[in-house]
Amino acid sequence: MTAGNGILLQVSGLTKRYGEVRAVDGISFSVPRGTVFTILGPNGAGKTTTLEILEGLRAPDSGEIELFGRRIARVDRREKARMGVLLQEGNFEPYLRVKEVIGLFGSFFPRARPVNEILELVALTEKRNAFVKELSGGQRQRLALGTALVNDPDLLFLDEPTTGLDPQARRNIWSIVADLKDQGKTIVLTTHYMEEAETLSDQVCIMDHGRIIAAGSPRVLTARLGEETIIEFTAPGMIGVPVVPSGGKVRRDGDAVLVEVTDLVPALRDLLAWAHENGVPLDNMIIRQPNLEDVFLSLTGRRLRE
Ligand code: ATP
Repeated sequence: MTAGNGILLQVSGLTKRYGEVRAVDGISFSVPRGTVFTILGPNGAGKTTTLEILEGLRAPDSGEIELFGRRIARVDRREKARMGVLLQEGNFEPYLRVKEVIGLFGSFFPRARPVNEILELVALTEKRNAFVKELSGGQRQRLALGTALVNDPDLLFLDEPTTGLDPQARRNIWSIVADLKDQGKTIVLTTHYMEEAETLSDQVCIMDHGRIIAAGSPRVLTARLGEETIIEFTAPGMIGVPVVPSGGKVRRDGDAVLVEVTDLVPALRDLLAWAHENGVPLDNMIIRQPNLEDVFLSLTGRRLRE
């Protein structure tokens, strides 16, 4: 294995077991410089373990890693100096001020970026004198992101950066990630939010039970479902499936019914006739294009978030 030009990180046949559990089961992928690479998968898929190996926090059982142009057995100080890491759980001392937290993290590195620059990057300039305990969840997460940027890393690992944040706070993080990419950073992130993967990623790999079950750009992945349009509605307690004579695949997912159709108008006509005859109200009906959640559902029969 030798990574070509422009590939910042390449992983081949990576495995990690915890007893009987194959947390990472022989995965391979490569991440081009200056791109956002996302590992999308449900809880327990092996995303965090993969990141922890690449961050140098865990040793893999087997596999090859090529990082910053060098093949390495495991990630060490030399690589860590060029990476930034946002861990899943970040807790800062509540009585430190925002600027002090960034300054403290900066003091760990021989050449840290100035505190003001970091605060600007993560949109916390106005909060520079605030105590950590006074920050909202989104602001805390931006502070954590700031601490991952103090060494001006080439490569950033973000483990579920927006889990638990409200939609506005999530969008703020997305916009910072997009800016960092524009500045030439390479970003590897994990998420179980398909909108996050779709919005941010150049490449997505979908992981389940330690394996990569699909990979490609969001557009390529959703194109796997063909030219289909999805009609979705909820029907709690519905027995039987809609008959859509003009063709279409029907999937149940809890109370939701998803009908994949290629020819929308006749399919809709048939569906409406069926609903009328059977007294199905077609609650919350929407018509949409396939997304990464549909790709996951079609591959595994499960939702990303159960
Ligand atoms: P989440 O989104 O919940 O963080 P994940 O995709 O990041 O999930 P991992 O945390 O990598 O998944 O876990 C993968 C599998 O390995 C799970 O079955 C988990 O229970 C198991 N696992 C993770 N860490 C350990 C550990 N330290 N000891 C034993 N088993 C572990």
